[in-house]
Amino acid sequence: MERGKDYNKTSIPEKRELPYRLMSEQETVPEEGIEIAPIGPPAVSRRAAGIRASPTLQATNRARALRAAGHDILSLSAGEPDFDTPEHIGQAAVRALKQGLTRYTPVDGLPELKQAIVEKFRRENGLEYVPERILVSCGCKHSLYNLMQAVLNPGDEALIPAPYWTSYPDMVVLAGGIPLPLYAGFEQRFKIDAGQLQRAITERTRLLILNSPNNPTGACYRREELAEIAEVLTAHPQILVVSDDIYEHIFWQDEGFGNLANVEPRLADRIVICNGVSKAYAMTGWRIGYAAGPPEIVAAMKKIQSQSTSNPTSIAQAAACAALTENQDAVREYCNAFRERHAYVYERLDAMPHLRCLPAEGAFYLFPDCREAIARHAQCSDDLQFAERLLEEAGLSTVAGSAFGAPGHLRLSFAADRKTLEQAMDRLERFLKAL
Ligand code: PMP
Ligand code: GLU
Repeated sequence: MERGKDYNKTSIPEKRELPYRLMSEQETVPEEGIEIAPIGPPAVSRRAAGIRASPTLQATNRARALRAAGHDILSLSAGEPDFDTPEHIGQAAVRALKQGLTRYTPVDGLPELKQAIVEKFRRENGLEYVPERILVSCGCKHSLYNLMQAVLNPGDEALIPAPYWTSYPDMVVLAGGIPLPLYAGFEQRFKIDAGQLQRAITERTRLLILNSPNNPTGACYRREELAEIAEVLTAHPQILVVSDDIYEHIFWQDEGFGNLANVEPRLADRIVICNGVSKAYAMTGWRIGYAAGPPEIVAAMKKIQSQSTSNPTSIAQAAACAALTENQDAVREYCNAFRERHAYVYERLDAMPHLRCLPAEGAFYLFPDCREAIARHAQCSDDLQFAERLLEEAGLSTVAGSAFGAPGHLRLSFAADRKTLEQAMDRLERFLKAL
C-alpha cells in the first residue's frame, strides 16, 4: 500500500503532499541568495530585530510607571479616550458571560457581530458588504497586521503618507515589505496631494495607507482631495488601499465623514476598510476591530488569524455587538467633548512662543512643530531629546514626532480631563517661556 494512503496507520502525511515547503527544509537547503544564520547561541530573528517596539505604547507606559513611582507627571501621550466604556456595553458582556458565551467563536467573529458590522457600514457609511467580506479581529491594529501579512510579498512597496501612525511601517517590515513614507509637512497641512502620490508609484507599489482623521496630526482629507487621489489610483490597478477609519466618529470637519470608497465607488474592490470600537465607544481594552474588503483578501486575512490568535475574545465580541446596535448617544457625547477640548488646547498652543500649530479637524491629537523651541534648548538637538527634557524638567509626557515619521514635532493627546489639560498647558507654556 502506498504510504500516506494508509489512513489507519499514518497520521503524518508525506512531505510531498504538503502544499508548501516546510520551514525546516527551507532553512537547511542552501539556495543562492538565502543567508544561513551562523551557528551560535539562540538569537532573535532578523525580523524581530528589524522593528521598534511601539513608541506610543512605550511613552504611555513610561508616564504610568513614573506616576506609580510617585513622580508628578501629567500625561498627554496616551492615544485612547479617557472615558469609561458606556454602562450598557459592559452589561452586554456581563450577560454574555452569564449565558456561557465563553467558548471559541468562529475565527472571523460571531455571526451576529458580523451582521451588526454589515449594518453599521450600510447605516453610517452608505457601503454594502456581505458578512463574507468582514473579519473581526483583536483590535483595528490586528486587522491591519493581518492585512499586511495577507497582501505583501518581500520587496513590495507600501506608500505611507507621513506623519503616520507609528505602527504602519513596522507592520510592513514584518511582512517583508518596504515602507515608503510620503512626507506632507505643515505647509501641506499634513496631507499628501495627487501629484506626490503619482510620483511615488512604481511597478512594485502594492499598498497605499490612508488614515483620516489622522493620528498624529488630526488632519482630515476633504472629498475633493480624496477624489484627486482616487483618480491617480484608477490608473494603477495593482495598488490596494487601506482606509484606516478608526477615528471616523471623532470628527468636526464641516462636510461630514467620507472615505475613498464613498468618493470613488469604482475603487471599492481595491479598498480594505479597517475600523473598530476602541475610539468611538471608549473600548480600547476590549480589543475588537474589524476589516471589510475584497472577499479573497479577507479570506487570506482570516486564514492568517486562524493560525495566530483564532477568534477575538468572545464576551468582548458581545460587547462590541451591543456598542454597534444599541444607543449611540455616547459616540456623540465623546465627539463633542473632544471638540471642546481641542478648541481649548489649540488656543493655548497657538498663543505659546516658539511653536507653530495647525488646528485638527478630528481625532484627539495636536501636532505642533517645535523646531524653533528645540533649537533654543541648550541640551536638545532633536525632538526625542526635547520630549525627554519636557518629561524630566516639566513633568509632561508627550510623544516625539520622530515616532510618526515627522522629526521636529511633538504629539499631544487631548484625551484627558479639562483640569489635566489646563495644568499641562501651563507647564508647557512655562517650559517654552524659559527657553
Ligand atoms: N489606527 C490608528 C490610526 C490608531 O491610532 C490606532 C490606535 N491604537 C489603531 C489603528 C488601533 O486601534 P485598536 O485599539 O482598535 O487596535
Ligand atoms: N493609537 C494609540 C496611539 O497612537 C494607541 C497606542 C498604539 O497602539 O499605538 O497612541
